[in-house]
Amino acid sequence: MRWSAQALLDAGARRLVVVIPVGDEDLAAEALEGLNGWSTAPGGATRALSVQAGLNALADHPADEPVLIHDAARPFVTKGHVEALLAALAGADGAIPALPVADTLKRDLEDGGLVTVSREHLWRAQTPQAFRRGQLLSAYAAWPKDAGEPTDDAGVMERAGGRVALAPGDPLLMKLTYPEDFTMAEALAPLATAPAARVTCVGQGFDAHRFGPGDAVWLCGVKIEHDKTLIGHSDADAGLHALTDALLGTIGEGDIGDHFPPTDPKWRGVDSAVFLSHAVDLVRAKGGQIVNVDVTLICERPRIKAHRAAMRARLATLLDLPEVRVSVKATTTERMGFTGREEGLAAQAIVAVSLPA
Ligand code: MG
Repeated sequence: MRWSAQALLDAGARRLVVVIPVGDEDLAAEALEGLNGWSTAPGGATRALSVQAGLNALADHPADEPVLIHDAARPFVTKGHVEALLAALAGADGAIPALPVADTLKRDLEDGGLVTVSREHLWRAQTPQAFRRGQLLSAYAAWPKDAGEPTDDAGVMERAGGRVALAPGDPLLMKLTYPEDFTMAEALAPLATAPAARVTCVGQGFDAHRFGPGDAVWLCGVKIEHDKTLIGHSDADAGLHALTDALLGTIGEGDIGDHFPPTDPKWRGVDSAVFLSHAVDLVRAKGGQIVNVDVTLICERPRIKAHRAAMRARLATLLDLPEVRVSVKATTTERMGFTGREEGLAAQAIVAVSLPA
């Protein structure tokens, strides 16, 4: 039940009604602990009555809103199954996942013999099955009293004259019915519930800018009063430039100069947050999630320490990361080299990004 509920909620279900025998509500609460957006409804004496009880528990939802009916005994339902069903429902009165019949079918005869039955046009219906709530309730109301018990909801919709569309079925949507089914399900569980494969990619960036006459510098998106400024085409924020290059490095998308040519007057004096945000967008467009970033500023002056907290906060905002995943460090080069002589300032950055494999 939990696996089914989790998958349906992950797929975007706004509300989940668990139809369960009266007295068993605690079992549902135990199984669904920690999940939000669900409630229970008392089951009826038959499958058909239970389904209608679930539909009636959603009476405050629009009648034309899609509703999915699912057997909790099919625990391997995924967001992908739900998306395929909703797409199929768009042009029909109902949609079901179904598999073609692969085995040869036999009918036993009264004289003890067998006859082979054509499997052409035969499908194995699975769940979840998708409908519009009001339309399915009307179909149930129209079900003839003498027609016996419907075995699925699509059958009720068909009988009422509705058109039910087929969506791709999946062997993993099997219904766990017999004890041996559970043995098979346990063996399949790691496969069916494995998160999509991802890979962690790292990127690194380096940048340096020359000091010139001025009264402030921009570093990691923070303005710092200083007796010089940094010279560059944009705001010369070497911290953000190194970080932008590091992000581009995780997805092999060239460097900052490819995306924002220094020859283009459009980028003169621009806030380097624009560059960083562009690189973040490119990473996200590839399904990337930034894991952490670490920036090192290399200079004698200005002293960075007093500004580190503000820099972390600014980077956390720009990257939409918790501050614990954002590091800003500073070092000097012991008065050696161009940073030691205070001719300029340098920055290094390294980033880890989780990407679809
Ligand atoms: Mg630069």
